[in-house]
Amino acid sequence: MTLPRPGSNMDPGGKPKAVPGDAVDNQNPGSPMDARPLCPSAPPKKTDTVVFGVVGGTADEPRLAYLKDPQPVTDEVLALSKPVKPTEVFRFAAPCAGSGCQHFDGNECRLVKKTVQLLPAVVDRLPPCRLRPRCRWWRQEGGAACTRCPMVVTENYQPSEQQRQVADPAVIKREV
Ligand code: SF4
Repeated sequence: MTLPRPGSNMDPGGKPKAVPGDAVDNQNPGSPMDARPLCPSAPPKKTDTVVFGVVGGTADEPRLAYLKDPQPVTDEVLALSKPVKPTEVFRFAAPCAGSGCQHFDGNECRLVKKTVQLLPAVVDRLPPCRLRPRCRWWRQEGGAACTRCPMVVTENYQPSEQQRQVADPAVIKREV
């Protein structure tokens, strides 16, 4: 199957197509969320950050369930993860920090670059993700990022060797 690239109108999963003025914009009109690309592996801050997925599946094979409507981060939402950390249960999105992030090399996000290079796809269709129009991972790696995204857990205490390499900023991407 040929996965779509950013800018394509094709969604092989048929759901949903990129939604102009997506839910994230609607919740934060006028905020920096409106302009910058979004990082889909952000920490849970209470400003300019949304919850966009809930981790399901198993410890060995986590699978993200994508929220139809990403939600702002509040104390009430964060409390829902107890007794574990919010980053073990939810995925958060926030404006990409660019050069302020240890995974950004000045041009690209190495985190998603290594994810695509080192980890297998776990789905064969684009997940129904509302972040897509503004997601940095999608913009950089296209469908290859989206078909691996469901396995990503922000806080993973038992990573495989490949997952450890992806998460370690000191491991530089492989040259392809
Ligand atoms: S990589 Fe794809 S599925 Fe994951 S958050 Fe970005 S657009 Fe959504």
